[in-house]
Amino acid sequence: MRTVVVTGGGTGIGRSIADRFAAAGDEVIITGRRAAVLDQAARELGGAVRPIVLDGTDPIGTATVAASISKVDVLVNNAGGNTDFDRPAPQTLSELAQAWRRNLDSNLISAVLMTTAVLPHMEEGSTIVTIGSIAADKGAGSYGAAKAALASWNVDLARAVGQRGITANVVSPGYIADTEFFRDVLTTERRNSLIDAAMTKRAGTPEDIAGAVFFLASGSARQLTGQTIAVNGGEWPSR
Ligand code: NDP
Repeated sequence: MRTVVVTGGGTGIGRSIADRFAAAGDEVIITGRRAAVLDQAARELGGAVRPIVLDGTDPIGTATVAASISKVDVLVNNAGGNTDFDRPAPQTLSELAQAWRRNLDSNLISAVLMTTAVLPHMEEGSTIVTIGSIAADKGAGSYGAAKAALASWNVDLARAVGQRGITANVVSPGYIADTEFFRDVLTTERRNSLIDAAMTKRAGTPEDIAGAVFFLASGSARQLTGQTIAVNGGEWPSR
């Protein structure tokens, strides 16, 4: 039985990833800031899912949680989202700096902290997957910049852990429906245009992303590392 850590595993994509590994018989730890959300997800996903309340931007909390886990076979850095959605537009340079730091903290620093903290607990054959975004390629202010930075950091990470038999990749989703990501900011017109932009003419699902993550953690993907893998229905093709 593997031990799988999914940050932000209480909702959306993270919850679906947790579900996929739990269904395969793995022990799954899910983190997030809301205890009630995590507890409900753990109850609904079954006995092998353990909730741990953690703000991923907190280095001390992250160190404490990592120290409590003896072995990690799969780390999924999924926590994040566009923190600009929760706030009015910045009016001053100070507010702009705060807004940028919120997105960098939430998406980039949280992944760097958790990865650094659990790496000593990872052995040969382990896997790190970080959830990026199509926004890194299309551009989306500080959110897109944070996701682009994750892809660059992942290359360095993959190089550092490669000789230990550990892989590190980014899975970069396009538009994924049925998560809390967009809050209430997605109009029907925008939603339809995102679906129309995909070659598949449908929204992605959390299960689409879970499937890619599950494959990367499988024995079939041990030579696959240092990559950013787009799962976006062809909305943004790569070579
Ligand atoms: P959700 O909002 O449903 O999931 C985000 C999860 O991250 C929540 O469970 C949230 O829990 C957790 N989280 C956010 N900030 C923190 C934090 N500081 N510390 C700990 N946990 C945190 O949206 P998605 O499932 O859609 O998003 C998952 C990932 O996919 C994100 O990284 C997002 O950027 C990425 N993504 C999503 C796309 C989409 O179209 N939906 C497209 C491309 C990328 P809590 O609030 O309780 O802490």
